[in-house]
Amino acid sequence: MTKPIIALVGRPNVGKSTLFNRLIGEKRAIVADTAGTTRDRLYGEADFAGREFIVVDTGGLALDDQADLPGTPAAMLAGVRAQAQIAIDEADAVVFLVDVEQGVTPNDAEIAKILRQATKPVYLVVNKADNDTRRQDAVEFFQLGLDEPIAISALHGVGTGDLLDKIIEHLPEETPTEPSVIPHLAIVGRPNVGKSSLLNAILGEERAMVSDIPGTTRDALDTELVWDDQRIVLIDTAGLKKRGQIIPGIEKYSSLRAFRAIQRADVALLVIDAQAGVLAQDQHVAGYILAEGKGVVIVINKWDLIEKDEHTLDAFTDRIRQQLDFIAYAPVVFVSAKTHQRVKQVIERALIVRESFHFRAPTSELNQLVRDAVAKHAPSTKGKHVLKLLYATQVEGTLPTFVFFVNDKRLVHFTYERFLENQIRARWGFEGAPLKLIFRNRRSNAEE
Ligand code: GDP
Ligand code: GDP
Repeated sequence: MTKPIIALVGRPNVGKSTLFNRLIGEKRAIVADTAGTTRDRLYGEADFAGREFIVVDTGGLALDDQADLPGTPAAMLAGVRAQAQIAIDEADAVVFLVDVEQGVTPNDAEIAKILRQATKPVYLVVNKADNDTRRQDAVEFFQLGLDEPIAISALHGVGTGDLLDKIIEHLPEETPTEPSVIPHLAIVGRPNVGKSSLLNAILGEERAMVSDIPGTTRDALDTELVWDDQRIVLIDTAGLKKRGQIIPGIEKYSSLRAFRAIQRADVALLVIDAQAGVLAQDQHVAGYILAEGKGVVIVINKWDLIEKDEHTLDAFTDRIRQQLDFIAYAPVVFVSAKTHQRVKQVIERALIVRESFHFRAPTSELNQLVRDAVAKHAPSTKGKHVLKLLYATQVEGTLPTFVFFVNDKRLVHFTYERFLENQIRARWGFEGAPLKLIFRNRRSNAEE
């Protein structure tokens, strides 16, 4: 399901991350939880009154490791304005947070100016209204020219439920992620890794013909093309540069745009700069791709700039695999958007990845595979208790999903789950696709 997105916008210190944590509560933040990365608490899944949605704290939204929250007031303002612009472009609802302790500041007015142009719901939320006096002070924010200010205390959880009630009333329904008939490929990655160059290189390939059938794409920045008789939609996140020119440096904050593109795609082409290698932000984007259950191809671009000997490719591959070990199933392609070297392979691999999502392992072969797996490597025992794998089947799902009926699912150790996944991959590949393994209890015949 494509969940609607609520974006939190506002100056530093108004309480965005406090509100974020309150809204997602016990729910998980979408993180690339790997060693060496800072935990990314910017995207979180939340639910309220039976509705599921994603909350994004735009406060730290920078898709560039060099673009961490800037120090100078001018740079800060540019950053917050960029975030506001992206929020109204990409989110389904925008929560504009201000601080009643500080009152209306010039920066609030600047942000409000952008948000007044929004065609989607914008909620002006006055935070730190911890007591009656402060709640009354909230009226001051009427002057921002937005709707009625809503007073809350994110810290104490006062007013946040009412706020969510209001937001949810106007939030679009979740749209089922039906497998699109035409493969949708999103080109994502940090600024300057070569996303636009890759798009152009793909379009420049002999096999590619830009489709002249209008109206088939879902977004203005989508490019539809025909590749060897196969229709494809490329979702271009670099296009933000063109669109966002009114606000300088906006592409540095394109993380929300990347997230939206990933949501809409079947397969993400994660572009990485060969010279820079894998940075924390690359890991974050990879984390979103995994969290959204999408296919992935790792595209190492600017390969022309790397001095190579016979070990370079293997050494590079090893390092990338290690740094992106949570998407170890992703194919890696080394390309040069500049010289067009192997650009063709990017699309070929992406189409193979998409096929992985539609492949169904025959049940009898799957059960034979499980028997062989158990014979090769029996599950470890826990006291007298032994895990028994009774029956396995692949079921319908947005990603390849396997159900294993077992005697007691508490006996399934994650290393054994990993082992089973590896066996399935060794047999059928499922290249570039995350797998979902579900364990269900069922009594074996002997016990019945
Ligand atoms: P952000 O920079 O916008 O993400 O702001 P934070 O969430 O980090 O909050 C900045 C400071 O404001 C922290 O010290 C919070 O504890 C404090 N704060 C956040 N919400 C409230 C609130 O409702 N009332 C009060 N009194 N303080 C708050
Ligand atoms: P984007 O911000 O990710 O869209 O990156 P661009 O496509 O604008 O490329 C950023 C810079 O890298 C530009 O100066 C490109 O000319 C350069 N570039 C992109 N791909 C390659 C490549 O394969 N090799 C080399 N040498 N330069 C590249």
